[in-house]
Amino acid sequence: MSGMLNRLCARKGGFFLFPERLLLRLREAFGQTFFPQRTCVCCGALGVEPVLCPACQKKMTELAVCSLCASFTEPGQLFCRFCRAGEKKPFEAAVAAMPYQGLLRKNIHRFKYGGKAWLRRPFADMVCRKVKLAWPEVKFDLAAAVPVHANRLRQRGYDQAELFGELAAAELDTPFAPGLLLRVKDTPPSAGYKKAERRILMRDAFAPGKGQAAGAKILLLDDIYTTGETAKACSECLLKMGAAQVWVATIAATALR
Ligand SMILES: [Zn+2]
Ligand SMILES: [Zn+2]
Repeated sequence: MSGMLNRLCARKGGFFLFPERLLLRLREAFGQTFFPQRTCVCCGALGVEPVLCPACQKKMTELAVCSLCASFTEPGQLFCRFCRAGEKKPFEAAVAAMPYQGLLRKNIHRFKYGGKAWLRRPFADMVCRKVKLAWPEVKFDLAAAVPVHANRLRQRGYDQAELFGELAAAELDTPFAPGLLLRVKDTPPSAGYKKAERRILMRDAFAPGKGQAAGAKILLLDDIYTTGETAKACSECLLKMGAAQVWVATIAATALR
């Protein structure tokens, strides 16, 4: 129903996020009573607490991930093949909670395109769990989300990275800066583009928005890490705005490439 309301509002040509936000907050406030979520968001296991079943929690701690970027690697490898080849990244490091596959992939799709905004809670929990696992000692000054272009915001009715980013920031006790970056180029989704093509597409895709980044250690949040080019373009923009460091965390990363 919220998705329908959203589409209705979007059709009228405005960013009427109000009904979506209101329904979302109602759902979150009464969530466990009226909208019980009793399945694992990654594998669908029944009867678990809101986010991850014990098997998926175990998997998250055991997955072989590149130490520098969010790519999953072959077991025993410290770096992915791009980082082994010496690719420079403007961020300190990146992590993804889980591989982009199976039910999680479907759920991210529902979250982005199917109006299932309430999935922000399990996704925020997943990302926070991963950030704490990966970087237990890092204290961020600010959290920001990779923004969507105004055209897509109009289609979807909400900015999915900002929705879950807001919750994740709260859970990590970090101030959230909505609108810190602007997406000034309406780029197509990453799928189907090679890394080099993606790099060209993402050039100058982001611009400074509102708020200050100067001197800050920033946690940048997004839904999927694919080629890493989006994270790089955002990080470059944040560094130009004077940020001291950028760390990237996403819900999922595409499988080993
Ligand atoms: Zn599971
Ligand atoms: Zn890497």
